Amino acid sequence: MYWQKEMEVIGRRALEDLQLKKLKQTVSKACKHIPFYKEAFSKLNLKPKDITALKDIRKLPFTTREDLRLHYPFGMLAVGKDEVVRLHTSSGTTGKPKAIFFSKKDVDRAAELIARCLIMTGVKKDDVLQNMMTYGLFTGALVMHYGAEKVGVLVIPAGPGNTKRQISLMQDFHTTTLHITPSYALYLASVMTKEGLDPQKDFSLRRAYMGSEPYSEETRKKIEQFFHIDVYNSYGLSEMNGPGVAFECTEKNGMHLWEDNFIMEIIDPDTGEKVPDGKKGELVLTTLCREAMPIIRYRTRDITMIMPGRCRCGRTHRRISRIFGRTDDMFIVKGVNIFPQQIERVLMGIKAVAQNYQIVLESYDHMTVRVEISKELFDGKVDHLVNLQTEITGKLRGEILVKPKVELLEPGTLPVSEGKLTRVIDKRTL
Ligand code: AMP
Ligand code: ZN
Repeated sequence: MYWQKEMEVIGRRALEDLQLKKLKQTVSKACKHIPFYKEAFSKLNLKPKDITALKDIRKLPFTTREDLRLHYPFGMLAVGKDEVVRLHTSSGTTGKPKAIFFSKKDVDRAAELIARCLIMTGVKKDDVLQNMMTYGLFTGALVMHYGAEKVGVLVIPAGPGNTKRQISLMQDFHTTTLHITPSYALYLASVMTKEGLDPQKDFSLRRAYMGSEPYSEETRKKIEQFFHIDVYNSYGLSEMNGPGVAFECTEKNGMHLWEDNFIMEIIDPDTGEKVPDGKKGELVLTTLCREAMPIIRYRTRDITMIMPGRCRCGRTHRRISRIFGRTDDMFIVKGVNIFPQQIERVLMGIKAVAQNYQIVLESYDHMTVRVEISKELFDGKVDHLVNLQTEITGKLRGEILVKPKVELLEPGTLPVSEGKLTRVIDKRTL
């Protein structure tokens, strides 16, 4: 099933022609209306007419998160303030937020992309979507909301939190589809277990869209098995509309990135050079349809790769793999580069491990991994715990090449989150 079949299965040649046409328009518009780009182009002695082929995109300057911050609040607008209808911001941890503006058409296009994603995963008008992302300045909930309404499903704007109420809503209105962060899904699972609920018998759930923070295939499996649903990976960022940038189809093997709306590049984050398909690097995105705020070569800091080959679903828009982490998530212990996702993957693959864990960077040579384990294991048998600790330590060392200290905890010990969760505590910078 398709929402915009012609565009979703468009031939590669036609898609690339369309991308070039839109890229030229985007570049001209940005140069004409956004002083930041005008200046960046003139520094490089570059004119919009120098873009004659798609590969010329590499001549263009990058835009960074810092650039958006420096031009907060209105500096990156390409249209008059009277033409924008919506503001979102993306927080980050320090300094000013980034302001993202949408024109009426931008709101509509973002909703169209979500509609493609929902139909691609088999949603029908009689589905009920419980939207557990944060409503407000964050794009996650609203953009999904508008897209789901476009398709015609019933949307429950639940927002995150108040887990018991979430459960009642799911039961009373026969929710079939969740939009949720992985950390909240894990928490929801632990509450359902505590309440003695059977996800299969007591609910009508069929699928969940999960994104907004990195998670591993093992976490997906854990959540799918617990709820008896299909979990589809959903990727987006506020700077590029929010959700609906890339989304999994029913093959669940990489996320189709809507290439008529974005040009993607994967680069080496250190050199800025292109890396070949199938190799990991930083995702760089250029908007092709944004009216209010076109952005050229945005450094997402997300690490992924372009998956070579065609998808069996027939869509021609190329896929990116699961996000491996962010360039700024990486930490170094004993000189080894480590991503939190590597640790998550190992932990979620171990049956005795419950939902929650925390990574504590004690010094530049030592780290502790604190892991909640399932209740049954706290049976008082010390040798069980010691064996498990040895198993986890060994598996982690195999993956990250550094031997961490492993602490086993009872479920419910570590902080939980309804939104994005900070799992890495860096004592070195406290
Ligand atoms: P925000 O702009 O606040 O919506 O945050 C966007 C960021 O969330 C992205 O740049 C990614 O780092 C992260 N993110 C969003 N979706 C996913 C996903 N499916 N997997 C991993 N990380 C994600
Ligand atoms: Zn597909």
